[in-house]
Formats: sequence, C-alpha cells, structure tokens
Amino acid sequence: MKKITIVIPSFNEEDNIFSVYESLQNHLGHLPYEIEALYIDDGSSDQTLAKMRELARMHENVSYVSFTRNFGKEAALIAGLHHADGDAVVIIDADLQHPSEVILELIEGYEEGYDQVIAKRNREGDSKFRSGMATMYYKFINKMVDVKLEDGVGDFRLLSRRALDALLSLSEANRFSKGLFSWIGFPSKTVYYENVQRQEGETKWSFSSLLNYGVDGMISFNNRPLRVCLYTGLAVMLLALIYIGITFVQILRMGIEVPGYFTTISAILFLGGVQLLSLGVLGEYIGRIYYETKRRPHYLVQESNTKRRDA
Ligand code: UDP
Ligand code: MG
Repeated sequence: MKKITIVIPSFNEEDNIFSVYESLQNHLGHLPYEIEALYIDDGSSDQTLAKMRELARMHENVSYVSFTRNFGKEAALIAGLHHADGDAVVIIDADLQHPSEVILELIEGYEEGYDQVIAKRNREGDSKFRSGMATMYYKFINKMVDVKLEDGVGDFRLLSRRALDALLSLSEANRFSKGLFSWIGFPSKTVYYENVQRQEGETKWSFSSLLNYGVDGMISFNNRPLRVCLYTGLAVMLLALIYIGITFVQILRMGIEVPGYFTTISAILFLGGVQLLSLGVLGEYIGRIYYETKRRPHYLVQESNTKRRDA
C-alpha cells in the first residue's frame, strides 16, 4: 500500500493538534493509502509538544519532530520533508485553514500522475488592504524574478517522491519555498478551494514579517535587483553629466551665479538616496552569501519519535 505523509508545521498550535488529526482521519481514513501525520513542533512555548506526544501514544500513524527552539516555518517545512518517508507528501498548516477535503483532490491529481498538485485559494474574507497589497506585490515581483510566483498559492500542496527529492537536493540556507516549488518544475496541476479563516490561535505573520518575506522573494532568485541599481546609477550619472554640461556652458556665457542652494541640496539628497538604496541591495546579497558560507543546519531536533534522517 502506498504511503502518504502529511507534514504539519506547528508553532504554538496547542488547540489545533488534535482537531487536525481528526479532520485528516475523517476525510482520508477510508482511502486505500497508508496516511501518516507528521507534526513538526517549531519550538512552541505552549502545550503543542505535549499534545503531539499524547496523540502519538494513541495512534501509531502519528509522528512528530520537535525543534530546540523556533526556527521558522521554512525550517519546519524542510524538517518535515526530510523526515517524511511516504511515496508522496502533503504539506498543510496546523490551523485548519487547509481543508482535508481538498487533500482528497490533491491525491486524485497524484493518481493522475502529477508530481506537484497545488492547492490555490481565493482571498475571500481577507482584508481589502491585504489582498490589494498582495495583488500589487505579485504583479511587481513576477517582473523581477525568473520563477513564476502566484498569489493564493502557498505551501499547501502534494509532492511526489521525485519532486520531494528534487526539493531536498536544493541545499540553500535562505529558503524561499514558494520560489523553490516553482523552480523545481515537474508536471503540476492546480486545484482551487475557498479561503478559510483560522479557527484557533492567531496568525504568526505581522506586517513586518510580511514585508521581509516580500524582500526575500525578490532577492532569492536572481541578481536583477543588482542590475536595477547599476542602471539607476548609470541613468543618474548621465543626467548629472548633462546638467554639468549645461551649467558649464551657462557659466562660460554669463559668469557665475551664486544662488544654487536648491539644485545642490536636491542633487545631494537624491544621490544620497540612490546610493543608500544600492548599498542596501548589495548588503542583502552579501548577507545571504554570509549565511550560505556558514553552512549551518536548517534546524536542530531535540525530540522525535521517527527514525532520524539527517538535517
Ligand atoms: N508556523 C511555524 N513556525 C513559525 C510560524 C508559523 O511552524 O515560526 C506554522 C504555523 O503553526 C501554521 C503555519 O506555519 O501551521 C502557518 O502559519 P500561520 O497560520 O500563522 O500563517 P498564515 O496562515 O496566517 O499565513
Ligand atoms: Mg494560517
């Protein structure tokens, strides 16, 4: 019998651990597949780990891996993929925002032979501001990066063993999963579902973390932002040359005019801005190189009931 591992990254989700399992069992229990629930406790400070232990005692198709501290969802995700030994893997959130009915459709896609079956949500019930920002962001970012990033598409998806191994072979430290999923390619299918609001607990995304996520998306895939700096630099230099030329001719014809405060200060401010921005972009890339060269593991495990595969 084929095995499907359901990977569930969980950070302070004590109220959801049991209900996720129930929901999975209710919808997938009857399938001709062995279903395993693999919880990743991302250093929760509440009873999440205790609940996982309890659940694993009660059901033998429950596994868990617990981190030494909070390493972030990307780390939890890759830990789940490392430890999953199924023929296919489904990634879901612990907060019941990824309905188990949809997993049925993902599995159907898998049976049709697709390596990635992607669940795409609409933005029903999200704030106007948030969805507006998202639409703008995706328009912009798809111009910047080489991989295709889609709004409403996240980690909720099924991966075949092939796709999973491909993903695991990408060893970078700064992981922007959304882009990596798209980068590996493979025959993919998209299924659609209605957005669901979170039931228990609260979202871990603040405005600033969303902003950081946005920057990650931009920087993680190519060096186009560096190019933009280069071209901006060139353009500004050209403008400056033209301006210098014109002023020089004027000086030759009419002598030196003293008032020049406005032009001077605007040039300084504008150029200062351009330079800081370019330095910032450069810094982002250098920072990434710095983290890559450290070769630190993505996460550290303190407790688990699975045979450990290495990080
Ligand atoms: N999560 C995690 N580590 C973190 C933050 C979040 O494992 O540092 C998990 C969280 O428990 C949930 C999933 O990632 O299962 C998605 O988080 P959340 O619901 O906060 O994000 P949203 O659905 O609002 O995008
Ligand atoms: Mg959520």
